Amino acid sequence: MTAVLDTPAAAPAQPGTRVQLVDVVKEYAGHRALTGVDLDIAPGEFIALLGPSGCGKTTALRALSGLEQIDGGSILIDGVDVASTPINKRDIGMVFQSYSLFPHMTVRQNVEFGLRMRRVGGAERTRRAQDALDMVGLGHLAGRFAHQLSGGQQQRVALARALVTRPRVLLLDEPLSALDAKVRVALRDEIRRIQQELGITTLFVTHDQEEALAVADRVAVMNTGNIEQIGTPEELYLNPATPFVADFVGLSNKLEGSAAGGAVTVYGQRLEVLGDAPASGAVIAYVRPEDILIAESGLPATVVSTSFLGSLRRTFVRLDDDTVVAVQHEVGDRLEPGAAVALRFTGRPVVIAPKV
Ligand code: ATP
Repeated sequence: MTAVLDTPAAAPAQPGTRVQLVDVVKEYAGHRALTGVDLDIAPGEFIALLGPSGCGKTTALRALSGLEQIDGGSILIDGVDVASTPINKRDIGMVFQSYSLFPHMTVRQNVEFGLRMRRVGGAERTRRAQDALDMVGLGHLAGRFAHQLSGGQQQRVALARALVTRPRVLLLDEPLSALDAKVRVALRDEIRRIQQELGITTLFVTHDQEEALAVADRVAVMNTGNIEQIGTPEELYLNPATPFVADFVGLSNKLEGSAAGGAVTVYGQRLEVLGDAPASGAVIAYVRPEDILIAESGLPATVVSTSFLGSLRRTFVRLDDDTVVAVQHEVGDRLEPGAAVALRFTGRPVVIAPKV
C-alpha cells in the first residue's frame, strides 16, 4: 500500500490548494442552514468539520463542492471565486458515507470512470487506476464487483476513485460511519496517511469527536449553522472557547459553582476560568474527568460503578449532594461500588456557563 499517484512516495502531488469559505450563507425555505461560515483551509491541510446532527456540516461540504448553490458570501479555491464554476470543473474529489460504487462495473472500471469522462487514453487510464488501487491496498481486487467486497474495501475503492483524477481538494462526508469500529480506525489512519503523502487539501465531515481529533490538523466545531471554534485537537480539548465545545469535544462533568472575579468556586475549590465567562453568580463549570483525582483526603464521595477502558479506568462516584461525577484514573486502582473515596480537583482552568 505504498504507491502514490504518479509521484515519488514522499513528495506531495501538487503544491497544495487553499480553500476559503467567506461569510457563507445557505437557506432552505427560510431556514438558515449556514449563517455566515468563515473557514480558511491552508494548502495541504486536513480539516475535520465536527458537530451534532443538523448543524450544517454536510451543507457546508456540499456548498464547497458545488452540489448546493449558496445564498450569500463566497467560496474561493486558490483565491478564485467558484460561484459560477460548475461542480465538474471545481476539481474536487468526493467520498460519501454510502460507498456509491457502480454495481455493474468492476473495481477497476469504477476507478477508471472519472478518467474515462476526462477522455484519458486506455493505457494511461489502466495504469493510473492500478496506481490508485495499489495506494489503497486493493490492487489485487481490481476485477471484482462491489457486491464481492466488504464495506471497508468498497470505501477504499471509493477513495481510489475520488483520488485517481488528482483533484485539488478532497471532501469526505462521514466516510467511515457505516463501518465497524476496527475497520473505521484502520481506514481513518489510512486516509490520513494517503492525504499526507499526496498533500491534498481535505475537508472531512464527521459527528464523531474521537475520529475528528485523531486525524485532523485542525478541527472546526459547528453548532447551529456556524463554526463555534476552530483549532488543533489539543487547543480544542484543553482550551474550549465555549460550553458547547467543552461539552461536545471530550467528556465534561457539569458541576454547579459560583463565579466571581474571573474564577469559579466548585465544591469549595477555586478554579480559574477559560474564555468569555459570566462575571459572577450561579454557573455551571465544565470539568474533565481527568481533572478530578481520587485523593487521600478531600471531597467525600461513594463509588457507583467503574469501567475498564483499556489504558485507563473511568469511575462514577456520587457526592453527598447526590451529584454523580465521572473521574479517570489508573487501570490498577480498582474501586469497588460502595467504597468511600475522597476527590480533589487538579486545578486546571475550566469553562463556565450561566446556570439557567
Ligand atoms: P447530519 O450529521 O445529521 O448529516 P449535518 O450537520 O450534516 O447533519 P445538514 O445536512 O447540513 O446537517 O443540515 C443542516 C440543516 O439544514 C438541517 O436543519 C437540515 O434539516 C436542513 N436541510 C439540509 N438539507 C435540506 C434540504 N435539501 N431542504 C431543506 N432543509 C435541508
